[in-house]
Amino acid sequence: MSLAKRSTTKQSAKREFLLMLDRQLAQSSHGDPARAALHGAALACRELLSQRWARTQAEDAARGRDARCRRVHYLSMEFLMGRALRNALAALDLTDTLRQWLADHRLDLATVIEAEPDAALGNGGLGRLAACFLDSFAELGLPSFGYGIRYRFGMFAQAIQDGRQVERADDWMRDGTPWDIQRPALSFRIGFGGTVGEDGQGGRHWQPAEVVLASGHDFVVPAVSSERVSTLRQWQASAARPIDFARFAQGEYLAAGQHLLEADALNWVLYPDDSTEAGRELRLKQEAFLVCASLADLLARHLDEHGEIESLAHYNAIHLNDTHPALAPAELMRLLLDQHGLSWDAAWQITRQAISYTNHTLMPEALETWPLRMFERLLPRHLEIIFEINHRHLEAVRARFPGDTGLIERCSLIDERGERRVRMAALAIVASQRVNGVAELHSKLMVDTIFADFARLFPQRFINVTNGVTPRRWVMQCNPELAKLLDQEVGSGWRRDARQLRPLAARAERGSLQHALAGIKRTNKQRLAADIEAQLGISIDPDSMFDVHVKRIHEYKRQLLNLLHVVARYQSMLAHPEGADGKGWVARTVIIAGKAASAYHTAKQIVQLTHDIGRRINADARLNGRLKLVFLPNYGVSLAERIIPATDLSEQISTAGTEASGTGNMKFAFNGALTIGTWDGANIEMAEAMGVENMFVFGLRAEQVIELKQLGYDPRSVVANNAQLRAVLDAISRGDFSPGEPQRYRGLIDGLLQNDRYLLLADFADYVQAQQRADQLFRDPNAWQAQAARTIAGMGRFSTDRTVAEYVDSVWSVQRAAGSSTLSD
Ligand SMILES: *Cc1c(COP(=O)(O)O)cnc(C)c1O
Repeated sequence: MSLAKRSTTKQSAKREFLLMLDRQLAQSSHGDPARAALHGAALACRELLSQRWARTQAEDAARGRDARCRRVHYLSMEFLMGRALRNALAALDLTDTLRQWLADHRLDLATVIEAEPDAALGNGGLGRLAACFLDSFAELGLPSFGYGIRYRFGMFAQAIQDGRQVERADDWMRDGTPWDIQRPALSFRIGFGGTVGEDGQGGRHWQPAEVVLASGHDFVVPAVSSERVSTLRQWQASAARPIDFARFAQGEYLAAGQHLLEADALNWVLYPDDSTEAGRELRLKQEAFLVCASLADLLARHLDEHGEIESLAHYNAIHLNDTHPALAPAELMRLLLDQHGLSWDAAWQITRQAISYTNHTLMPEALETWPLRMFERLLPRHLEIIFEINHRHLEAVRARFPGDTGLIERCSLIDERGERRVRMAALAIVASQRVNGVAELHSKLMVDTIFADFARLFPQRFINVTNGVTPRRWVMQCNPELAKLLDQEVGSGWRRDARQLRPLAARAERGSLQHALAGIKRTNKQRLAADIEAQLGISIDPDSMFDVHVKRIHEYKRQLLNLLHVVARYQSMLAHPEGADGKGWVARTVIIAGKAASAYHTAKQIVQLTHDIGRRINADARLNGRLKLVFLPNYGVSLAERIIPATDLSEQISTAGTEASGTGNMKFAFNGALTIGTWDGANIEMAEAMGVENMFVFGLRAEQVIELKQLGYDPRSVVANNAQLRAVLDAISRGDFSPGEPQRYRGLIDGLLQNDRYLLLADFADYVQAQQRADQLFRDPNAWQAQAARTIAGMGRFSTDRTVAEYVDSVWSVQRAAGSSTLSD
């Protein structure tokens, strides 16, 4: 496109945008003006983005035949998208246009942006990774679809009452969903239950007992440096039949519409509490619903473009984000066998070539399994197919390892111990051409531990692809001042190629750079301090070290270890007000945020303990405000975007060997926070990239953790040898922080002393020392900022642009699928 033409297109887009805004505002003349403006701006952006969407789809269809890279279908139960307006405005180059228009209407842009609710359709890192991938799919121009479910109430909104977490429905769609593009033509019938019989032609016929409709809603994700977009297609369930009119006429309103409600329940929340049978069944139905609707859509598109089914895997990659969509191979087999009449071998070859799977956790209890009887009741034909896959799989194993019955049991798709269950990870592995972990250590432990048997069977199948984050949202948008500084220092190319941040390391010692970094950090900290004061009434010192631990609350992430340090510090400050070395205490503000799963008692206790300790410390005048502990409620993407640019010290302190990768760690480092962390997940690769001397590394390594547990770890002996630790545990255990209920944390602390599964006590002393090293460096602001510059400089590898490019090369490419080794392996 010529320059002149591009500028007229831009002018006309701008004109169109303003016209739409005026029209929208005119239509919503009352109510909250910021919300009305938000709605109007979103609708106007959506219109322009949907034009880009249509062009992108036309390009992809035309590229079709000789695309080197297949269309990628990324199936995920979670997409943690956050807000969309700022991203859309940046991509459309309309930020200033909207700011001006709002000013003319006496509104300001920040207020309007803040009025947008987060699309919090996810739980944590796995869902945010999927959202970062969509950003990189667009930026790299990768033909793709993300597939998810349109949860009306997300996961839950966290509120704090009396220091305790309470869960509320997150009613994020209350004001409507202006970003959604409805696709009325996309509607698929999804079956559950019923019976399976002969179809009269030697095949099988499934007659479901219940049918729901899946309808598609598209959310468009733009690139910044091109007009390409990617698509998040979210399915919404509704009943296939209208109300029962006869019953309605008899006045039985609820009974007349019972099935409408049951279908709608599929859309309500992500991860219904799985502590009940009904919750578990709903979850399995959601997973099946996602998989069946997405594959129906994929097949329809493929047949439309290519007219035959045999080339399906040549043109399409299907990726499973963890095992939640692991029903996909069974559903694809069902479609190919029962609807397209393919032979088992032909169908299996296509399935194996199309599917790949990412594992996100090593915790055995997190590996999904479903009771056979539940599966049979809801998905009888899928279960038949899984049995057949298993039969053939085990035959092959027996042939290769005759007599190894232990191996057969361990790698069966059916767990026969106790109640029989389907192992979803086993299904995903057997059906995939590639299985990847998400950081080097995790990928190694994956094949050494939970998947050791499968790695023996299929050694070529397992690879590593280290996670990343998108620098567009996690630097450009959340920290525009830093983005501007980076542009000045290394040019603006880092926005698309984060490796271009490297030269920053050579400039780390420059006073002007240190000064600029410190100034930006201070501004961000002041803004967060003002938020905290306004929201929680806690006043914090913007010159104190902001020491931040934000992520899901989980024992393995060790928020409790952080609290042990806070209490130790508190006790030391009271005992030695002049500081250990007579130089006084470095002022610290410890900030914690994160949601605890609703049925996870210990995690909820940790939330409460944070509040109890905070209440006491924050009110203790003897500290002169030099230690504060703040819990920010309802952690999510928007809160993260606020907190991360204001962080000095990033807490990444999981027990070595437990955090698969982490992506929070990367967001902080991109924003110039220094990391205090264990030798775990992607921390290791980050340390190697930036130079390990730029990170505060502490604690046992993964192999030491294993060794210690084998030797017999005794937490009590650790405590017996550490008076400081003893004093901390005693204070919490006897109720110093919960005087109204002194027994409140007795169980929590006793639990640590009896079975410290995540080795908090073993790592405590080393953690406290690492914290002292952080204090020391913080006293020298220039040295601190030099280290921040080297941290940023080392982050080049940790962009999802690199991650996605690796998936394309080693998982999703045509060459990969065509390679012979992928099938025999
Ligand atoms: C990045 C992110 C996470 C993942 O954080 P980890 O520290 O890797 O666990 C979780 N939640 C939100 C909202 C995020 O943005």
